[in-house]
Amino acid sequence: MGGIDLHVHTNQSDGELPPAEVVRRAAGMGLRAVSITDHDCSDGLAEAMAAGVEHGIEVIPGVELSVRHGGFEQVHLLGYFVDQRNPDLENHLTELRDSRLGRGKRLVQKINQKLAQEGLPLIDFAQVEKLANKVISRPHIAKVMTDMGVTPSMPEAFRKYLVPLNIQKHKLGFEEAVNAVKKAGGIPVLAHPNLITADRREQIRLLDDFTRAGLKGLEVYYNNMTERDTEHYRVLALERNLLLTGGSDFHGFNNVYGNLGRVHGGRVVPEELLNPLKESYFQNRKVLVACGGFRSESAEKVLDSICMLTGADRIDGRAVAQGFPRVDPQSPQGLHMDIAIKRIVVLESELKLLRGKSAAVFCRYLDRKSALDLAAVASRCGADFALVLGPESASAVEGSESTAVVLNPESGTAAPYAGTSRNTLSNLLYFTLRG
Ligand SMILES: [Zn+2]
Ligand SMILES: [Zn+2]
Repeated sequence: MGGIDLHVHTNQSDGELPPAEVVRRAAGMGLRAVSITDHDCSDGLAEAMAAGVEHGIEVIPGVELSVRHGGFEQVHLLGYFVDQRNPDLENHLTELRDSRLGRGKRLVQKINQKLAQEGLPLIDFAQVEKLANKVISRPHIAKVMTDMGVTPSMPEAFRKYLVPLNIQKHKLGFEEAVNAVKKAGGIPVLAHPNLITADRREQIRLLDDFTRAGLKGLEVYYNNMTERDTEHYRVLALERNLLLTGGSDFHGFNNVYGNLGRVHGGRVVPEELLNPLKESYFQNRKVLVACGGFRSESAEKVLDSICMLTGADRIDGRAVAQGFPRVDPQSPQGLHMDIAIKRIVVLESELKLLRGKSAAVFCRYLDRKSALDLAAVASRCGADFALVLGPESASAVEGSESTAVVLNPESGTAAPYAGTSRNTLSNLLYFTLRG
């Protein structure tokens, strides 16, 4: 089937399925990548990323924040590639979740008053809490009501009780939310612009406001956007130099809120949207990549591809990449640097992404000590992360059967990465930067 889905919820917020199960299904459908974007919660990301490695699908870490703006109900900000360990973001998320708990309790009280008047059975809040896991949301209440038989369906529960009796939840201001995403290293993207207001002129006004406040992308594929809608929003985004994203807003629950991997009309979100998003993410990051077995045929091939795709000069000899200090090939650390080029890359499919941002170092030989030394070099170079790929790297960490070794320049440690060519850069990056 192909395609990507960059807007998916799990039971860490108001979705039904555990993160690993969502990722497993996405991989089973043949999706190229999936992003977990739970409401006000990043706790499912580690599980999802690990499942991505297991099932061979790229998982983009994400989050969806509720934003307060001019009385509009559905201003939601997606944050892609956020570091969930960022303390600032975590504080915001905790605050948002705490306020959801209080709001959920008050909302259930209000609904119970109405149910009592109607002579219907009352909701047990403990059941809502149990279903909700961490983030208490209205679909949880709707699900409990439907399971109890108080309403025939979840949409009906919304129509009759949850919408008319709604209580506002605590939200971040737009700029506050954008800054929280950016501080956590993420890319802020406006979700479902068509749900904010039906007035398209108003949408444009909002989009201009948001772009001025630092918005970087717009969701232009969504479960209820027709092809014409998508085209409309695509033009708006391109005019404002915004990245394009898209997703189903899948929540489980028999696809009431969207069908995994599909948008309106059964279309898929094209995977071409992913690379510009990643490029934007990698823009200010430095990467150091070493490829073991330099003289092997496969290494030569990778090197040729790098040069071709990036336009980098192939430098035979002992030069070291632009932006990185010179490394002495004869250094006692045992680094045998055969070649370095101006720009870097990791796997062939990722070559273009890192254009002009980093350097590749091909090593003839890399044992564990050399790998650790390389981590130190990467650290001195100010690289955000380093990877060692190639036939020799497997033995760089004892007992490892991985095809790559991920070095953490900060701590100078090396860890095996059980990756394949399908587990691409963001997964590797995740394991490096976030441990
Ligand atoms: Zn939303
Ligand atoms: Zn959503």
